[in-house]
Amino acid sequence: MVNHPYCSTTALSTLYNPRQCASKAVRVIKSKNERANEEACVAEAKALNAFDEVNVFFDKAADRLKLDDGTRQLLKKPWRELTVSVPVRMDDGSIKVFDGYRIQHNAARGPYKGGTRYHPHADINEIRALASLMTWKTAVVNIPFGGGKGGIQCDPRTMSENELNRMTRRYTNNIHHLIGVNRDIPAPDMGTNSQTMAWMMDAYGALAGYTPGIVTGKPIELGGSVGRDAAPGRGAVYVMNEAAKDIGLTVEGARVAIQGFGQVGSWAARVSHDMGCKIVAVSDVQGGIYNPNGLDIPKLIEHLAEERTIVGFPGADLVSNTELLELDCEVLIPAAIEGVVHKDNADRIKAKLVVEAANHPVTPEGDNILNNRGIYVLPDILVNAGGVVGSYFEWTQNLYQHKWDEDEVNAELHKIMTEAYRAVWEIVQRDGITFREAAFVIGVGRVAHAAKLRGFV
Ligand code: NAD
Repeated sequence: MVNHPYCSTTALSTLYNPRQCASKAVRVIKSKNERANEEACVAEAKALNAFDEVNVFFDKAADRLKLDDGTRQLLKKPWRELTVSVPVRMDDGSIKVFDGYRIQHNAARGPYKGGTRYHPHADINEIRALASLMTWKTAVVNIPFGGGKGGIQCDPRTMSENELNRMTRRYTNNIHHLIGVNRDIPAPDMGTNSQTMAWMMDAYGALAGYTPGIVTGKPIELGGSVGRDAAPGRGAVYVMNEAAKDIGLTVEGARVAIQGFGQVGSWAARVSHDMGCKIVAVSDVQGGIYNPNGLDIPKLIEHLAEERTIVGFPGADLVSNTELLELDCEVLIPAAIEGVVHKDNADRIKAKLVVEAANHPVTPEGDNILNNRGIYVLPDILVNAGGVVGSYFEWTQNLYQHKWDEDEVNAELHKIMTEAYRAVWEIVQRDGITFREAAFVIGVGRVAHAAKLRGFV
């Protein structure tokens, strides 16, 4: 078991993450093995930042597509980056100044679109990486958006509702000149939710007038769409289900382990459970639970609503986040944070299929190891695109001032996700490459083509 000392702050939350580890200055007594492990993960973190990692996959696709140097540079670099200071009056009267970002990566195919992350590790490279993933993702599922992302480097779990409200309004004021219904449309991501979007919409509306389409992932009462919350997790399961048919995996009874039980992970659990999968393990930031006979997901969701953590759910053993990744199962769904499958644990993953519901949960080195071991990896830019597809439906309904019902949303989501998967599978078979390589070839190819048609290059 890889057990990284910087991340092992409690027995329940052992999660190895090179980038997070590298930036956390905690001093602990370390064994020889722990020191070696630490050195390895810090070296990996120093070698590549999150944006570099995404660009490893971009470069491979650009090679396959034989893109010239100018086009590569145009598509790789963000078009526009804004860094803002976000001063916030805290409840105790003090003032804290946070770093905020909005990065517009590429809009060749439509307005910039991407979430807003509140997280201690949401630095500029993390946001760049996430913005570029949005560019390729919106292209893979063929919806009329480009890629962008925003965030504030903060720890929302330590902030009160009033502090978060004030911070969100100040951030929105500071980026308002960059965003717009036809320019750049933020959404929630880790650490933000529909309440955050309501505050953003209100702050923007104070400057521009009633503009529900300025953000997606809003509360239904303020113009949100039914089915948007479920869409990333539901879409991930639709893709998993299609892929299972092609790789000879029986979904009925398949054992599934899910890291992260937030918006994406909990919906992936519900939908795959309804489809007949056996969810043997899930986790949140506090740790994981495991039952080889399967967890009762509806009861677990009730438990989470009451306790605010899945830990302590009766009838299950405790596992660490690290152990969860290495459990005996058919399907592993990382649905929390980035970089959790890497060069030091990829050879111990037992799942036959890894479904990347989180953004870039597998490092390029981890990806190579999984591929060489014959483990299929369904990539983030396909798997979790259901989130932005749900946002597309919300934005469309806002533009038309019209409402769809949940069946319509789910049917359209199924159609788009299935078509996107089928296009990727066609390239996998045609070129004998991995799912990730095929998805990047489609995404990068479509954006390059749009840029050319517009006369960028
Ligand atoms: P969330 O904040 O709702 O949930 C995150 C979950 O991960 C929680 O259960 C949290 O406890 C857990 N977690 C956080 N840090 C952890 C750690 N260090 N170790 C283990 N678990 C940890 O976030 P979300 O919206 O579900 O997003 C999860 C991932 O999916 C992110 O990578 C996000 O970018 C991606 N994503 C989200 C959406 C969306 O619409 N919400 C869409 C596409 C992709």
